[in-house]
Amino acid sequence: MTNINTLDIQDADLKWKGRRYYPISQYFVERFGTRVGKVSVSIAETCPNRSETNDDRVCVFCDEWGSAAYPLEREKSLSEQIQHNIKHVRRRLKTDKFLVYFQSYTNTLDKVALLKDRFDIALAEEHIAGIVIGTRPDCLPQRLLPLLDQVSKEHYAMVELGAQSLFDDQLEFLRRGHTAECTREAVAKLHEHTDSDVCLHLMFGLPNETDAHIIETAQQVNDFNVSNVKLHNLHVLKNTPLEELYRAGKFVPVELEEYAEKVSLFLRHLSPHIAVQRLAALSSRWDELIAPQWTRQKMPPLEFIENKLRSREQYQGDLFPSKQIQLQTSPEL
Ligand code: SF4
Repeated sequence: MTNINTLDIQDADLKWKGRRYYPISQYFVERFGTRVGKVSVSIAETCPNRSETNDDRVCVFCDEWGSAAYPLEREKSLSEQIQHNIKHVRRRLKTDKFLVYFQSYTNTLDKVALLKDRFDIALAEEHIAGIVIGTRPDCLPQRLLPLLDQVSKEHYAMVELGAQSLFDDQLEFLRRGHTAECTREAVAKLHEHTDSDVCLHLMFGLPNETDAHIIETAQQVNDFNVSNVKLHNLHVLKNTPLEELYRAGKFVPVELEEYAEKVSLFLRHLSPHIAVQRLAALSSRWDELIAPQWTRQKMPPLEFIENKLRSREQYQGDLFPSKQIQLQTSPEL
């Protein structure tokens, strides 16, 4: 499928089709030989933080929908959601190959037999090349691993872990209810027991965050050997604990200029072999967004960050320890 060429870092933009970072779209083309779209579904209905035993102490940023892209579709069956959402993704990406993304809440909490049924239904749909499972680092029980192993060997599977931060004091602020060590263990467990790709969700723009935090995060991610990361700015949504902190003046979201500096710093220290799913959060339900307003739109923040990198002749990985890197060649789109 691929050849290995040794390239200088300055050739990276050729491999990434003019981008300043390794986009997940490129990773999928290398893996599948064509564009691949993610089709989000809302199936899981809760997470550990919403249980009664946790006193409903939800993550500080989480709205009532648990990060679902299309929460109002949860009335539909899994197959109906896939068929309905595929139409939009097909039109947008002009592809006929898709991954079903189990996005809302925590998608590994239910009984293994039920999860298997869901995965089987998704994988049996036409044009589906694999599944993506959104979950938390502390929700990968041993009994689930054989199923993940089986799915990842017979199909494509990716586990998206909501790591958010690799520092315990920041996880405490976010009210995540798990530690950074838990994330390290989860990644190791997935590598050891399954063939799943691993994606880490990370947040920047947290209180007391320094450049040292960001560089250390990139270095740890490099050591994890994950296939990709998804970056978010911490933003304030209606009816969240963060809204209360924001209204009380105890939390100030970062503006785009500052966030772009943080993301640029992270990318420069990130291995050029780790793909990037997104550079910033997108708050598509505008009526729920309190601040910052720049996170309403997808493309302008992305272009702002890339332009900043471009104007300074910077790339993902240009401060990665090895300047001489190997990049995989891939089929053209
Ligand atoms: S972010 Fe995830 S784990 Fe946290 S409260 Fe929301 S759904 Fe639960």
